Amino acid sequence: MKRLLPTSTAGSLPKPSWLAQPETLWSPWKLQDQELIEGKQDALRLALHEQQLADIDIVSDGEQTRQHFVTTFIEHLDGVDFEKRETVRIRNRYDASVPTVVGAVARQKPVFVEDAKFLRKQTDRPIKWALPGPMTMIDTLYDNHYKSREKLAWEFAKILNQEAKELEAAGVDIIQFDEPAFNVFFDEVNEWGIATLERAIEGLKCETAVHICYGYGIKANTDWKKTLGSEWRQYEEAFPKLQTSNIDIISLECHNSHVPMDLLELIRGKKVMVGAIDVANHAIETPEEVANTLRKALQFVDAENLYPSTNCGMAPLPRHVARGKLNALSAGAEIVRREILGK
Ligand SMILES: [Zn+2]
Repeated sequence: MKRLLPTSTAGSLPKPSWLAQPETLWSPWKLQDQELIEGKQDALRLALHEQQLADIDIVSDGEQTRQHFVTTFIEHLDGVDFEKRETVRIRNRYDASVPTVVGAVARQKPVFVEDAKFLRKQTDRPIKWALPGPMTMIDTLYDNHYKSREKLAWEFAKILNQEAKELEAAGVDIIQFDEPAFNVFFDEVNEWGIATLERAIEGLKCETAVHICYGYGIKANTDWKKTLGSEWRQYEEAFPKLQTSNIDIISLECHNSHVPMDLLELIRGKKVMVGAIDVANHAIETPEEVANTLRKALQFVDAENLYPSTNCGMAPLPRHVARGKLNALSAGAEIVRREILGK
């Protein structure tokens, strides 16, 4: 029988220092060629081991084989020139030098499928695999070909669907699309953002999730959060349409955020991965703090639909902090599980 309140992470975990510079996004690899391939696999094994030691129910690769959650996927596609860079504003928040779309985008071969097969072989637990969502992908590129955000998003949705179908065939149980851009471009989310996401999951039989957060704990994001006021109501914009979408699971940032919990009422009926771990600070939550966040969510999410999780990926954190937070997540979920079953 499936355990009540199954735990998982939003996705990434810190990489070992022999593989990449710790506590850094877009950290360069320290190995090359065959050594890099083996190093990534070893890191994946370690990330899995740490999740299993912490008794995380739905495990992932910890994103050990990718440098970044968006760019690594795009690097494998045709039509994007990584040498030709332009400065654009990402999520209306910070300027970054990004690659240019110079022709039709296409996927010649699978991107993560071999990695997913490798993870599948290492564990009997359900596995979740993260892909970037179409809107977040277009937001990290300069488009000199389609010259339409919507058109490019539909192209990426088709490509993501190809990848997702092969991940499903490789034994992935939950395919998650990361869409932090859903918290920024509300009109586009409702006009075509959710529609392109549904295109990306078309025909899948495995479960699907969308992760919508306020970003990694980097300075650009924490500065932005300071401007959002005392109540963060961004989720309110996308929730009504997500509630009626085909997406099974919605993964959210909740702990230490100013998101009013009652917004979760708008997605009643969906499974919700409730972020009960803050990834923007190094303080390890107590199990009781985790339990508190879960109890608040339980007012609006039925127990069988509640999936305790982290607010976002933990890639930029020191390893011992990430490990502590995994343990806190597990212990906090267990407190609430007992409360529910004891009733
Ligand atoms: Zn996130």
